[in-house]
Amino acid sequence: MAEIGDGRAREALKKYFGYDSFRPGQQDIVDTLLGGRDVLAVMPTGAGKSVCYQIPGILLGGVAIVISPLISLMQDQVDALNDAGIPAAFINGTQSPDEQSMVLAQAAAGQIQLLYVAPERLETERFKNFAARTAIALVAVDEAHCVSQWGQDFRSSYLAIGDFIASLPNRPTVGAFTATATERVRRDIARLLGLHDPAVTVTGFDRPNLYLDVIKMEAKHKAAWVANYVAEHARESGIIYCATRKDSEALAETLNQTVPQLRVANGAQSQSGIEIGTEAVAAVYHGGMLADARNRAQRDFVTDRVQVVVATNAFGMGIDKSNVRFVIHHNMPESIEAYYQEAGRAGRDGEPSRCTLLWNESDIVTRRRLLDTDSENERLTPEERELVRMAQRRLLDGMIGYCRTTDCLHLYIVRYFGQADHRQDKCAACSNCETTFETIDVTDVARAISRCVHDVNQRVGSGKIVRILRGSKAQDLAWMNPESMPTFGMLSEVSEARIRDVLSQMATDGFLFIDEGRMPIVHFGRRAAETAVPDFRYEIKRVERKAAVSPGGESAKSRP
Ligand code: ADP
Repeated sequence: MAEIGDGRAREALKKYFGYDSFRPGQQDIVDTLLGGRDVLAVMPTGAGKSVCYQIPGILLGGVAIVISPLISLMQDQVDALNDAGIPAAFINGTQSPDEQSMVLAQAAAGQIQLLYVAPERLETERFKNFAARTAIALVAVDEAHCVSQWGQDFRSSYLAIGDFIASLPNRPTVGAFTATATERVRRDIARLLGLHDPAVTVTGFDRPNLYLDVIKMEAKHKAAWVANYVAEHARESGIIYCATRKDSEALAETLNQTVPQLRVANGAQSQSGIEIGTEAVAAVYHGGMLADARNRAQRDFVTDRVQVVVATNAFGMGIDKSNVRFVIHHNMPESIEAYYQEAGRAGRDGEPSRCTLLWNESDIVTRRRLLDTDSENERLTPEERELVRMAQRRLLDGMIGYCRTTDCLHLYIVRYFGQADHRQDKCAACSNCETTFETIDVTDVARAISRCVHDVNQRVGSGKIVRILRGSKAQDLAWMNPESMPTFGMLSEVSEARIRDVLSQMATDGFLFIDEGRMPIVHFGRRAAETAVPDFRYEIKRVERKAAVSPGGESAKSRP
């Protein structure tokens, strides 16, 4: 079957899209669909999913239905296809019933090869009638993870797709496309869309032109670090992601006040040449702003009227700016999926770009707390809520792992997404491959923490545990009579930060479980039994950067 696809597919790629060769993974997907087998393709945004279904859609004959949740994207793709001479159209709620009927009539008459629809349309009588009397060769489902409650953007309208496909008189070949990684979501996609023995492919996650950088940094140093970076890279455009609306506003204000001064102080940059950001240094973008203000921020950024946009995760969907040279995360996101999607907005043009993640232990606490309060979703039963919370915790653990790993960050990411990669060498594009690490044995600290959790009967949060271990006489502890506890003052010589680090690592490793509800409490975790609680017979080591410490960051090197 590969031979059948090969020549024609490549010809179509050249003829309609102007490309000489397929990117990794594309050819296999196209050939598999042309051969009549279902596909579940996991590819990151920007990897080139569209041609994977557009080419089979063109070559298979009959109509190919492309299901997509984003109306603006539909419009863009249909325009591009029409420009390339391919008969394509869309049906969505912005059209009048007459317009919709006309498009469907054309499609039924074989005058349209690719028909884009929003999932809500599938359930309408008009569409059902059309589908029952038309030869549909292919159904392509874009953003297929929206069908899963385990994904980040569940849409109930996606649940209708499986029934729609099953209702067709002749079953078409089905291609499901997503950028979301987890096993669970993939299984849901296959099940809920009713895929038949799909060929699962995972490709294109590595982005070698991105320099990946993780810097552990105390919260109070972050703003100054970002301001310096922005000042030193005056001709580069960048996105800075913050966890909250309030943070993004505060940081944008700081940048607008301090960056011009820093530039004057640094001299050089502003003397000649084009400097971007002539209106202001930074624009703010978040979901709490009026549409007008958001559009203005977006426009100013895309047209280089401001150098950077400081945003929450509301920023980015559908924004096409290829020369973003850096993406800085001011806080740790909730998952690798979210992180890589946002960081991946850097370097779309293939030029070297930098993705820096600033994090610290309190980011982890904040994230856990958000999860525990967030999951009070009304529609779910308490059991479902607990499951969702656990799933989100696992996603968060993947993110924490990225912050802590000493392995190559590129490898960490492609492996996370399930793409095989057997590289052995150090890469030249991540902070870990450029850093020497040293290992410090912190088993004693871990043992003291474990005993202290036992002493307090798993009744208090991490702050109190740290204070007891350090021998604090704080009033709020008096009710427990901490001075009578064997662990009181046991770690009086160890810094609070170190104890917190080890405690947090024990939680990530599963020896402790921190319930971040309204009253945070440290419990023993699922792996505590392995360590003969409350004793801690498990060697625990921390790996720390050996690189020279520069102000503000533990490895703040400035490149590229
Ligand atoms: P996705 O849907 O995966 O986010 P797109 O389908 O929009 O990605 O493709 C991203 C970009 O890559 C587009 O500009 C597209 O034209 C381009 N592209 C896709 N396939 C190829 C190819 N084989 N060679 C060169 N460019 C390609």
